[in-house]
Amino acid sequence: MKRTLSDYPNLQRQRQQLLQQLSGLQELRRGSLTDQFLMVKRKDGSRVKRGPYPLLTRKQGAKTVSRRLTDSALVPLYRQQIQALRQFETVGDGLVRVGEQLSDLAVAEVGQKKLLVELEQAAEVRRLAAALAARQTPDFEAWESLLLQAARQGGAGVLGTLLSHGQQYAPREVILCPCGQRMRSRGRRSKGLLTTLGRVPFARSFYQCPPCSQGCFPDDERLDIVPTTYAPGVRRLLARAGSQSHFAQAAEDLRCYAGLTVEAREIERVAEAVGRQVEQWLSAQQERILQALGTSVPTAVSEATFYIRFDGTGVPVRKSELVGRRGKQADGSARTREAKLGCVFTQVGLDQEGYPQRDPHSTT
Ligand SMILES: [Zn+2]
Repeated sequence: MKRTLSDYPNLQRQRQQLLQQLSGLQELRRGSLTDQFLMVKRKDGSRVKRGPYPLLTRKQGAKTVSRRLTDSALVPLYRQQIQALRQFETVGDGLVRVGEQLSDLAVAEVGQKKLLVELEQAAEVRRLAAALAARQTPDFEAWESLLLQAARQGGAGVLGTLLSHGQQYAPREVILCPCGQRMRSRGRRSKGLLTTLGRVPFARSFYQCPPCSQGCFPDDERLDIVPTTYAPGVRRLLARAGSQSHFAQAAEDLRCYAGLTVEAREIERVAEAVGRQVEQWLSAQQERILQALGTSVPTAVSEATFYIRFDGTGVPVRKSELVGRRGKQADGSARTREAKLGCVFTQVGLDQEGYPQRDPHSTT
């Protein structure tokens, strides 16, 4: 019989009933009880049937072993215990039968869910494609955006599978709490990720430290999505769009170019967070370079005044470089072209006459 998900509660109920029956069975005995009759020879040579004697018979390996029960008062108890084992076997079979049906349902459920999602998406794409194809004039751009949408949906599905595959088959390492204790797995927690392909659900393991109850998500750390629900690709886009224009404009651009719907204030938040990370990275790099050179790290706040100066001067060039250039000569022709030279430097103090003094090592 083909079972559907609606059978699930009924099967669960059956299982509970069987388990209850099982817990009521305590004294169990293998074997069976039979009545034994013996033919006994009397003194006068005649034979007489004696019995019945109750006999407990059971298999032991390949042999069958029998034992006579001498106390007939115990026979009903033996019978009860043997009967209980029969019940135990029946209930056990019932549990296996229900378990197999539940197994089939679980397998079917996974397949059904996946199929439903895929069918829904495919049906939507087909519906739109049919509507577009029915038009008198072809709409190239509509085809493009429709297929892009279909490709994104498919890609988001694959991305979700990759994430859950990685989560299931990643080697389980020991996670240590900052307090030094070993953290324990506390099951999975879900979060929705916004990726460049669309929304993708992600269920990852949560670890907690029993003594200090600090928690962490090791998979989030591995995937670089610790305090955020934006995938790395989306964060790059948000930071870039946010750095190019007003955040409202950035939201508009992202919708248009990447099909992403993100509020302006979210873009602001992510762009600023990424900006802070870049700043930290840059100053760490700078520190590393300066340490390698044996120079001390300059403090962020400096008393120095920073100058940028430039000037231009005429440089004689070949005639071929002067074609079409107006110059200062009487006939309007030119003999030189202007080259601009600039430098940046800091001021270290003032000289005796009160003029600023340039730090010669700072000039670039
Ligand atoms: Zn701890």
